[in-house]
Amino acid sequence: MVNNKELLERFLRYVKIDTQSKEDETVQPSTAKQKDLARILFAELKDLSADPFFDEEYGYVYASLPGSEPALGFVAHMDTAPAASGTGVNPRIVENYDGGKIILNNHSEAGTSPVILDPDYFPELHSHIGEDLIVTDGTTLLGADDKAGVAEIMNLFEFYANHPEIPHRRLCLAFTPDEEVGRGTEHFDTDRFGAKEAYTVDGGKMGEIEYECFNAASAVIKISGTSVHPGDAKNKMVNAAALAVECHSMLPQAETPEHTEGYEGFYMLGEINGSCEEAYLKYIIRDHDREKFEKRKAFMQTITDYMNRKYGEYFTLTLNDQYYNMADLMKDHLHLIENAKKALKELGVNASVIPIRGGTDGAKLTYMGVPCPNLCTGGYNFHGRYEYASVQEMEICAEMLIKLAQ
Ligand SMILES: [Zn+2]
Repeated sequence: MVNNKELLERFLRYVKIDTQSKEDETVQPSTAKQKDLARILFAELKDLSADPFFDEEYGYVYASLPGSEPALGFVAHMDTAPAASGTGVNPRIVENYDGGKIILNNHSEAGTSPVILDPDYFPELHSHIGEDLIVTDGTTLLGADDKAGVAEIMNLFEFYANHPEIPHRRLCLAFTPDEEVGRGTEHFDTDRFGAKEAYTVDGGKMGEIEYECFNAASAVIKISGTSVHPGDAKNKMVNAAALAVECHSMLPQAETPEHTEGYEGFYMLGEINGSCEEAYLKYIIRDHDREKFEKRKAFMQTITDYMNRKYGEYFTLTLNDQYYNMADLMKDHLHLIENAKKALKELGVNASVIPIRGGTDGAKLTYMGVPCPNLCTGGYNFHGRYEYASVQEMEICAEMLIKLAQ
């Protein structure tokens, strides 16, 4: 049912448009170039008579196609990760992949060794033997995250725009900016979107459906010291940098990202900066279990209070919740998961429901009243130059969306 050639062409068209987002910007979208793709999508949706709306200010694109109620929504993000360049993406298709090494280029940016997509490092490549893989030229990311999702949703809309006679639900879509910098839902208009349940199409591996994610908070411990000449410092100096080290040493050393997996939560020291005068420790706190998550935050407070009792009031803690586990709200909407499993099964794919060790825009949307599990796209190795996508898997994902709409 999917026009495979058109799906691939769409994808190749979108990845060539640079939409890299940027950390620590106050405006949205964080980079104006994200609107370049938004405008193209808006125009294409207009051609499909899908009643598109382009939010000129914040860069969101919305559209809908008539159908039966209740409406079903689909969300994908237009930006690519700041972690790797998205300028001059030059995709190449490796047809009928044979399971060997794929040389992405022979002239790495450093001018040293070639950039090779090697199944020894990426064993998942073995599962793609015989498929056509879209790879990078080794200098940029690919942008399958999430332009694979964008292309698959556009394909869905094109399909039902051309086949209004096939019964389907009213369909709503939203393409968001700045997902990669954690701000994809900041100005998301749920009324404009128009669906009360939806999927983000922003996952990776074939068959994966995600609806459990972390509860997430940031924590900053700031330490104000007192700088005195070291020669006269006795009983006067308060060395903020040294106190920061002591503070950090009180956290459980095995509860870090590099020592945990599955449902295990962690504290991660993301940044440390300090002098005698002032120091700060920046953490992220993650846990799937809401109760354990609250305990982790409380423990940070316990440490801060302890240090203040021990040394004087030099320590302040700032905690900010970032997002919550959507599973806690998904209990009444598990049909979304069941429907996705069923659609995959009809396409000959075994679904796997796995907990995400991260968050998605869907998690935030779920808490904004639009339950929103995450679906696979057929893309792999996101956020770097080893990113690739499988043409055949993208086709299956696109078929899955068409089935879900029915
Ligand atoms: Zn993504």
